[in-house]
Amino acid sequence: MEQSNFIRTIIKEDLETGKRDKVITRFPPEPNGYLHIGHAKSIIINFGVADDFNGQTHLRFDDTNPLKEDQEYVDAIKEDVKWLGYDWEELRYASDYFEEMYNRAVLLIKKGKAYVDDLNQEEIRAYRGTLTEPGKDSPYRDRSVEENLNLFDRMRKGEFENGSKVLRAKIDMSSPNLNFRDPVIYRISHSTHHNTGDSWCIYPMYAFAHPLEDAIENVTHSLCTTEFEDQRPLYNWIVQECEMESQPQQIEFGRLNITNTVMSKRKLKQLVEEGIVDGWDDPRIPTLSGLRRKGYTPGAIREFVQETGVSKGNGAVDEAMLEHYVREDLKLTAPRTMGILRPLKIVITNYPEDQSELLEAENNPENEEMGTRKIPFSREIYVEQDDFMEDPPKKYFRLFPGNEVRLKHAYFIKCNEVIKDDEGNVVELHCTYDPETKSGSGFTGRKVKGTLHWVDAKSAIPAEFRLYEPLVLDEQMASDESEDKNFLDHINPNSLEIVQGFIEPNMKDAKPQDKFQFFRHGYFNVDTKYSTAEKPVYNRIVSLKSSFKINK
Ligand code: ATP
Ligand code: MG
Repeated sequence: MEQSNFIRTIIKEDLETGKRDKVITRFPPEPNGYLHIGHAKSIIINFGVADDFNGQTHLRFDDTNPLKEDQEYVDAIKEDVKWLGYDWEELRYASDYFEEMYNRAVLLIKKGKAYVDDLNQEEIRAYRGTLTEPGKDSPYRDRSVEENLNLFDRMRKGEFENGSKVLRAKIDMSSPNLNFRDPVIYRISHSTHHNTGDSWCIYPMYAFAHPLEDAIENVTHSLCTTEFEDQRPLYNWIVQECEMESQPQQIEFGRLNITNTVMSKRKLKQLVEEGIVDGWDDPRIPTLSGLRRKGYTPGAIREFVQETGVSKGNGAVDEAMLEHYVREDLKLTAPRTMGILRPLKIVITNYPEDQSELLEAENNPENEEMGTRKIPFSREIYVEQDDFMEDPPKKYFRLFPGNEVRLKHAYFIKCNEVIKDDEGNVVELHCTYDPETKSGSGFTGRKVKGTLHWVDAKSAIPAEFRLYEPLVLDEQMASDESEDKNFLDHINPNSLEIVQGFIEPNMKDAKPQDKFQFFRHGYFNVDTKYSTAEKPVYNRIVSLKSSFKINK
């Protein structure tokens, strides 16, 4: 769906004025973690604009940091991009360009625009100055071209230890833009790379590598998030000074953040590694694999991201908005069923012990085409514990002694007796049913106010339900850039509740990733990690009620 935004406006103009004759974009993840829904925004924008203007998009692994990267992440990222519904024209690896990048660095040295520096990381930082104070030249800044070429060559050959030397661009130590104060463009790292193995022991820095990658691939519009805005002049400098033929244009847009969660690979990785969540696909984190396992559909994620729009702002979007879109997406497709999360047994004392019957139930009242099913009913059933109160407040219309309610798709039942254990806990209710009140019979004799869901005790399948609450208690944590705030101090200890209940017997063939609406409880997904035929596990995707109102 085409949507106007400032990026499309720029591209359209570039095509109209002839500045560009085609559009090439790229989605450039670093394979150092799994993708999150923020990345989905970048994917949707990059693939979306290329598609609108008959262009193409590359999936490029920005793999210039061997210590943090791994094939596992490469595979997971590819899977997630496809799952979201996108397919790249070309698959690229930044590491395939290491030789070319090296040659461009040599070119900079030859032009007197780069030098080998022996200062260590701390010294470089101290020499850089601040926003209010200019930086200081490194004592190695004026090495001759010959010496620099010789040293850089020996860096490549592995003669020096990690951290003992770097290559820096020679720009301006007093520039008001700190990125121009002789940024480091190569570092030494004796480590094995997931793609190039041990061929290299020097690696280009992001700020140097990224513009070259874009230029090598003839990317026309390099779309990234606003934290790179300050780097744009350096990006252009690198393209220029390295004498790249192709001139990509960097355009920044605001990051997507969502309330009550975290949205950075670094933090997500910490949650995974410290065992605070159950892997990268834990349904509580906003990774695409987590959202998938929870039960989110790619369509709901795409709709949500489209609706959040493209701007320069970084504000957090209410998670209720994401939930809204998955409800919308599942409304007409998810079969309705009944499940009891916290069971309370009911014996229907006037229902014959050896009898049972099949009752008809519609599979989706909002979509008749989904047909009907038969659900068994007999003398013993389960209802929810909190659908009974011995001593109810006013306006409580569910079960209490002497009260009559409707069982969805079945009969009216009346509560006559409360059975308790030695400690006084309610363990069972004795009720009677009225055969005249059968659902669908047209009975109009009297009315009841409460309608409860239930399952037949004899035939029900035991099932586990996993109910989720936000992982982070601080609303704005995802968009909080302050380093002193430790997100681990704001983790919700009750983000996962596991309960054991029952589901209808006709759910026996449900497979992982099948989605249902459990009457009164919300939408659920069969878990891919723990669900088995003997013991199905259902993740709650979202409850039925929403406070979120979409303005359309
Ligand atoms: P993180 O900060 O979570 O580690 P990143 O920016 O380091 O993310 P990359 O793998 O470098 O992750 O990102 C690939 C692309 O996705 C980049 O162009 C980046 O700008 C974009 N991106 C990352 N996070 C978001 C977000 N929250 N919203 C929109 N785009 C994002
Ligand atoms: Mg990054």
